[in-house]
Amino acid sequence: MGFTIEQTCPQCGGPIEIDETDHLLRCPYCDVRNYLFAPTYFRYELPHKAPKKELIYAPYLRFRGSVYFCKDMDIGHRLVDITAMGSDFKGIPVSLGIRPQAMKMKFVTPETTGSFLRFTRKASDILANAGRLFSGSNNGDILHRAFIGETMSLIYLPLYIENNRLYDAVLNKPIANFSGGVENLEQAINRSSKWGLTFIPTLCPDCGWELEGDAGSVVLTCNNCDSAWEAVKGKFKKIDFNLVPGEDKETIYLPFWKTTVVTRGVDISSFADFIRLTNQPRVVGKDWEEKPMSFWSPAFKIRPKVFLRLSKQFTISQEHFETENLIPKKNLFPVTLPCTEAAQAMKMILAASAVFKKNIFPHLPHIRFDVKKATLVFLPFSDTGHEMKQQHIEISINKNTLDFGLKL
Ligand SMILES: [Zn+2]
Ligand SMILES: [Zn+2]
Repeated sequence: MGFTIEQTCPQCGGPIEIDETDHLLRCPYCDVRNYLFAPTYFRYELPHKAPKKELIYAPYLRFRGSVYFCKDMDIGHRLVDITAMGSDFKGIPVSLGIRPQAMKMKFVTPETTGSFLRFTRKASDILANAGRLFSGSNNGDILHRAFIGETMSLIYLPLYIENNRLYDAVLNKPIANFSGGVENLEQAINRSSKWGLTFIPTLCPDCGWELEGDAGSVVLTCNNCDSAWEAVKGKFKKIDFNLVPGEDKETIYLPFWKTTVVTRGVDISSFADFIRLTNQPRVVGKDWEEKPMSFWSPAFKIRPKVFLRLSKQFTISQEHFETENLIPKKNLFPVTLPCTEAAQAMKMILAASAVFKKNIFPHLPHIRFDVKKATLVFLPFSDTGHEMKQQHIEISINKNTLDFGLKL
């Protein structure tokens, strides 16, 4: 279940509620839209009941997404939903319980008053721990692990100290004796929150037109000058995209990332190498020797099993699509998975594509990919009632799983 965040409209001050996966803030009062951007994490605070106290905020890492793992000669995956303590400071609660779900949170901004316990644990360690837990295995058996499709943020629990006791400021109840001494506390905190939240007006940087996107979109498109944009360092940056034109007006366009790479640690210099190394039952085409290796993967959140299947099917097929550089004016499925996530998936896609696992699996820990180019490709699908069917190759997606993706 997702968390709700309250935010006031930067234009008119009206109250807006958004989901933790939302990036696009649309004000129901003045209709102004802004894209939310934070440099590292979105940071939220739980509401407190101690207005007169000097508050200390404790960080918790929030992660929701899928963990994929290669173990022995198998590939597994699980959905992971955790909120884990991000500071080792003595006395703070190990868990937030159901509070983030039950309460409406606010963004931490430079105006939030109080001190902040530093986020001292490593996000990668917390995720590796969760991965071990969810894959039911010791680290030793795991050849590769990837976390994809995530919401990763920090949630801050407000606390205060009174009469040598540590209080939970959400409940106004003591939770531990505070014996650490003020000096230790001073060392563990930052006096102010310097983390800004940027509201980027959703106007095309090239032509000034209103950009299109859904609440959870990570790429916005311009219907006027046919361009696509993602937020980098608080600004919109243009990205490469292609459209494969559909058969008719009912065509639905689903977005995929095509990531072209140079591979190290295993001998894949071309698409032909990939086909041979993964033992595909296909005759290697002449021009494949010259064709650089590209991985394909959905640019939208979808169940892990379907994500892997689609990635594998499109990567192996490498259909040569005729493309244009136009943005479809309608029936465009939102891009909810950034290309950085697609890059995380490549090793899993390689593992999933291998017919003889022994050719690939032992090399997994040493394989590295250098991304040379990432292109967003809108592929045409037909709605057949229960399924979305790709118009060029025999690949379909159950429509229920697409709905699931929108809710994830
Ligand atoms: Zn407004
Ligand atoms: Zn434009």
